[in-house]
Amino acid sequence: MTRDDAQALDAADPLAGLKAAFALPDGVIYLDGNSLGPPPVAVHERMADVTRRQWGEGLVRSWNTADWISAPLRVGDKIARLIGANPGEVTVADSTTVNLFKLAAGALSLRPGRRTILSEAGNFPTDLYALQGLEGLLGGRARLKTVAPEDLVAAIDEDTACVVLTQVHYKTARRWDLAAVTAAAHAKGALMLWDLCHSAGAVAVDLNAAQADLAIGCSYKYLNGGPGAPAFLFVAERHQGALTSPLTGWMGHAEPFAFEDGYRPAADIRGQITGTPPILGLAALEAGVDLQLQADPALVEAKGLALAELFIAQVEARAADPQLKLTGPREPGARGLHVSFAHPEGYALVQAMMAQGIVGDFRAPDIARFGFSPLFLSYVQVWDAAHALADILAERGWDRPEFRTRAAVT
Ligand SMILES: *Cc1c(COP(=O)(O)O)cnc(C)c1O
Repeated sequence: MTRDDAQALDAADPLAGLKAAFALPDGVIYLDGNSLGPPPVAVHERMADVTRRQWGEGLVRSWNTADWISAPLRVGDKIARLIGANPGEVTVADSTTVNLFKLAAGALSLRPGRRTILSEAGNFPTDLYALQGLEGLLGGRARLKTVAPEDLVAAIDEDTACVVLTQVHYKTARRWDLAAVTAAAHAKGALMLWDLCHSAGAVAVDLNAAQADLAIGCSYKYLNGGPGAPAFLFVAERHQGALTSPLTGWMGHAEPFAFEDGYRPAADIRGQITGTPPILGLAALEAGVDLQLQADPALVEAKGLALAELFIAQVEARAADPQLKLTGPREPGARGLHVSFAHPEGYALVQAMMAQGIVGDFRAPDIARFGFSPLFLSYVQVWDAAHALADILAERGWDRPEFRTRAAVT
């Protein structure tokens, strides 16, 4: 493929028009929307309206007049449309870590005779840490078991209360078959909890078609909700009411403004809300979700996979460095939208690209990771980034002391 070919793909790209809806700096090729999505242009005005008019003028009245109180459910219903859920099955609350803890605890309570929470070794650390915390809290009542991905399905047994997996792996981009693994969990009577951090806004997800039980996900990655944006969680309607949260706060109460002493959980998705919703974060997130809703998820996935394929092909065709190795699957059907290359100088390599305005990230111990957000990237940008990477490798452009100094966040 030549650069002209890439330009022709851009000319025919049905999503090309959405690029203008993002406020990205000139001269930057942003390959890290999988870690922190860029701001939608519309977010600036929305935040100004929320802070000046709703907060500044409406003050506390805005809980009613600006309908702040419904924001978690309203934005949740919008996210539901992106992940194959029904209205009332998704809410925005807390962080992904906290939501994982809540839903895994709830899953255990729905499977009283079973002790095992099964996950994948090498899952995103916070997922494992949250489950370890739950295990510690519950003593002998819960046991976290992690196995290699190839052994996972066979490890589901009669003691498994819940299987917890990240659909698209944060390092390798390997993608689980959502429907097949959910069915395997159900066949053994276990519940299925999906982490959609690298799926929502990236690959087409249909939770209800797969009969998934529970799901969680970040909204600051492909949903462009802003740094630390509140996360989402999904509880299939059939489990609502029975699934209790271990973090019982007033916003999960059936009638928060009755101010009763005793906790009575809301029987719907609100039962998974803990405290006061973060309105500023929700406002920014809603701008990102509204933008995402303008794109057909099937087109989003197809373009993202095509960008990833283009990048892999161009890097591998040109990069002569035998130490550079693709990590994770090559086949589009088996992967998500980021691409990871292992290289012993992965950190310095990412820094050298950053110096040219091409932003990716590094995942220890040796992964240079590049994300291909379909809404704002063009094929030509990806072509240019691949060639820049190949040139840096050919010229050992990473071999400078300043590129080896590690920052706090990689
Ligand atoms: C990004 C990510 C998280 C982050 O969780 P936070 O609570 O937002 O810090 C969790 N799990 C996975 C799989 C992720 O990729």
